[in-house]
Amino acid sequence: MNTTDIGVSPHVKAYNEKFQAFLDERVAPIEKDLARQGVGTPWNPKLDEAGRMHPAVWAARREVQRLSGKAGLYAPHIGAAAGGGGFGLIEQNHAVEFVYRHSGLGLGLAAYGWTEGPSPVLEHCSAEARERWLTPLIHGEISAAFANTEESVGSDVLAMGTHAARDGTDWIINGTKAWITNAHFADLIQVVAVTEPGAGTRSLSMFLVDAKAPGFSRGRDIPTMLNDGLTGTLHFDDVRVPAECIVGEIGDGFSLAMAWINWRRLSRGGMCAGWGRWLLHRARTFARERKSGGHPIADLQAVQHLIADMDLNIYQAHAAALVALTELEALGGPYAVPLDHRAPRLVSLVKVINDEAFYRVTDNAVQVRGAVGLLLGSPEEKLFRVARNLRIPAGTSEIQRNAIARGVMKYS
Ligand SMILES: Cc1cc2nc3c(=O)[nH]c(=O)nc-3n(C[C@H](O)[C@H](O)[C@H](O)COP(=O)(O)OP(=O)(O)OC[C@H]3O[C@@H](n4cnc5c(N)ncnc54)[C@H](O)[C@@H]3O)c2cc1C
Repeated sequence: MNTTDIGVSPHVKAYNEKFQAFLDERVAPIEKDLARQGVGTPWNPKLDEAGRMHPAVWAARREVQRLSGKAGLYAPHIGAAAGGGGFGLIEQNHAVEFVYRHSGLGLGLAAYGWTEGPSPVLEHCSAEARERWLTPLIHGEISAAFANTEESVGSDVLAMGTHAARDGTDWIINGTKAWITNAHFADLIQVVAVTEPGAGTRSLSMFLVDAKAPGFSRGRDIPTMLNDGLTGTLHFDDVRVPAECIVGEIGDGFSLAMAWINWRRLSRGGMCAGWGRWLLHRARTFARERKSGGHPIADLQAVQHLIADMDLNIYQAHAAALVALTELEALGGPYAVPLDHRAPRLVSLVKVINDEAFYRVTDNAVQVRGAVGLLLGSPEEKLFRVARNLRIPAGTSEIQRNAIARGVMKYS
């Protein structure tokens, strides 16, 4: 057995086959149509006058999400009882890897629920909220955002200023969130706010806010090196939320925010392995074609070592993810409230090992191609920027090391 096949269940095999057919039959025509419109590519979209992703690119992504939802491909990570695919953590890792390896930087990436898709946290909602929000998210009919960070508070989550006050059975939210992915387009906001100041990890709660709610507004785009026009600011000005839109219980917000973030952290395993292998394949092909001194550069040991280092980084990160996910599964998973105290170290190991290995992989992918690797708009140039970005959102590498150290010092 190839190690890359460990845990590839019949579910995953069926998913991957269906996904490949979906890419060929449904995604490819949408990509072709987008290319004709001259609005950039899915990975380097043109931006509108406010700096947001061009509406035609966003519409193409949404179309892929809707079609994927209809085909039952969008939410393998959500439990079967809630209407998702019910995949285990290892199965999810393999499915994400397949999606990234075979979509490259194309629109196929939109076909697997990401930050803007259904989060496992929503399984903690009331039956009414699940029906209103989780079901349409699983079907790709709407999109979501997670609003935790603020201009002056990122890692230091408990210091946030956004707060919610009780009014009868409703809650009234006030505050501003920043650096929010999908801020410009989300229909649903999963917002974290202070409900009991001074109560430490019980001081926060998570609420579901309809983007049409009075008092909610979208702010400016925040341009980043990703240059995709998807990150922005959100304002909550006396936004009224009914009790059924509380996620979990009042006071669960910190644990739920961590659960949402754990979902994103763990996705790095499949993402880095999938994109890593795609880049490795491109590097090998390029090295066989490009000549120096009359011979392919693939014959040069210096270039072979760049490629060998790509392979070893992908291999170690992939293997680490499979081991950590197996351990996490045995501990009851990464989304429980309360969470097993041994889980955060494992989640952080997956994130930091994959993010840092992938950064080295993209660096070598650029180097193998020489100047062509630096070409603005090339996949290698874009993924180098993506890889640099990955070490900050969903918790910086330093914050991951804090969690790993806590796990080692206190619990092992
Ligand atoms: C492209 C992008 C998309 C994002 N999407 C979202 C989103 O959808 N939703 C959301 O809520 N947020 C989102 N964020 C915000 C992101 O999660 C935060 O930027 C991240 O958590 C870091 O917070 P910060 O930027 O405030 O940095 P800070 O917390 O100010 O950190 C600055 C530096 O200090 C270090 N540091 C801070 N505290 C500690 C500590 N205790 N121990 C060790 N080192 C420390 C950090 O590692 C970093 O090097 C996004 C950010 C980006 C760039």
